[in-house]
Amino acid sequence: MKRYKLMIPGPVEIEAETLAEMGAPLIAHYGHEWAQFYRETCELVKKVLQTHKADVHLMVGPGSAGLDAAISNLLGTDGSALILSNGFFGERLFAVARSYTDKVNVLRFKLNAAVEPNAVEEALKKERFTLVAAVHCETSTGVVNPVKELGELCKKYDTLLVVDAISSLGGVDLKLDDWHIGICVGATQKCLETPPGICPIAISSQAWERIEKTQSPGWYLNLRTWKDFVERWGQWHPHPVTIPTGTVRALRKSLGRIFEEGLEARFRRHAQMASVLRQGLRNLGFELFISERYASPTVTTVLIDERISADELIKFLKQEHGIMIAGGLDELSGKIFRIGHMGPTARLDAILPLLFGIEDALRHAGIKIEVGQSLRGLDLGEKAFAKPVSR
Ligand SMILES: *Cc1c(COP(=O)(O)O)cnc(C)c1O
Repeated sequence: MKRYKLMIPGPVEIEAETLAEMGAPLIAHYGHEWAQFYRETCELVKKVLQTHKADVHLMVGPGSAGLDAAISNLLGTDGSALILSNGFFGERLFAVARSYTDKVNVLRFKLNAAVEPNAVEEALKKERFTLVAAVHCETSTGVVNPVKELGELCKKYDTLLVVDAISSLGGVDLKLDDWHIGICVGATQKCLETPPGICPIAISSQAWERIEKTQSPGWYLNLRTWKDFVERWGQWHPHPVTIPTGTVRALRKSLGRIFEEGLEARFRRHAQMASVLRQGLRNLGFELFISERYASPTVTTVLIDERISADELIKFLKQEHGIMIAGGLDELSGKIFRIGHMGPTARLDAILPLLFGIEDALRHAGIKIEVGQSLRGLDLGEKAFAKPVSR
């Protein structure tokens, strides 16, 4: 199978040193040394989540498994949920909650704008919910939702906030303790720049109170099972199942790189690279789907115009430039294209070839575009060229 450079909104390009961990001779998923390595890795994930108080488990599965666990455990036998949706992944939160109970309300917002805290407050004033769930970066549209404000509201109205931070964790600022997040779910394959397979899940003490008061069905996705193993078997087998040690090692390697760069610097780099890409696209005459005010530092969505179709552009970049970008989902299919710039591809050495590729695609479609037109007026600092993307 041919490989393409991944500039889709996840999975992302993986650095060679991280990939090498996946290919190292297998080690066992238990034993004193392993348990220590696992615990230290959880501590590093806590640092990314900016929490001292929450518990972190490295659940094995896609991000959605963590979302399922978060929602079902808080709902328990008698819970209710308020889902905030402004896109495909907000709808997934709704689908997960509805699979457990009828007691689900959903507030829907425009696809090209953020969730509005005022509307959320109105809903919370009227009715008490066990949990409120929202997506941090809505990857289908590239909107960042105001999680900090939502967390403050949840605290004020005594409910628990579940956050899908799958496409933001490690690329966008998120403060679990300060923002009063109840449960936060990430996934390795996006800004944590690790192959897919693990969804780190963080549970606050308030969320644990609720989980322990209710009974949620199931064993594997039951967070009490995960906690129980840490408590009983923490010294040698701190998780309930055989976990993919290679993926945990890979995650650890990437976390090392994340802290070597520093969280602040990393968030800044993602924002800067998003801004270079967006200016470049505007220089080529494109209109962005999301205004700067709401736009995510990790995903850019662009409106298709009459010059080239989404299919044509995506196909051309893949075949002629070896770069994969994504189209729109559901009602946005054919209307937008999406570019992921997370971790290793939030660098000029990935952004510039992509912009040149898009220029080339437009020229191929018969549009007059000069070579380098996307870069006009851009101030490209040298720092962003450091560390090439591994192939
Ligand atoms: C990618 C993504 C998901 C789905 O992750 P899986 O690992 O495929 O389950 C969910 N939510 C958001 C915001 C995402 O970006």
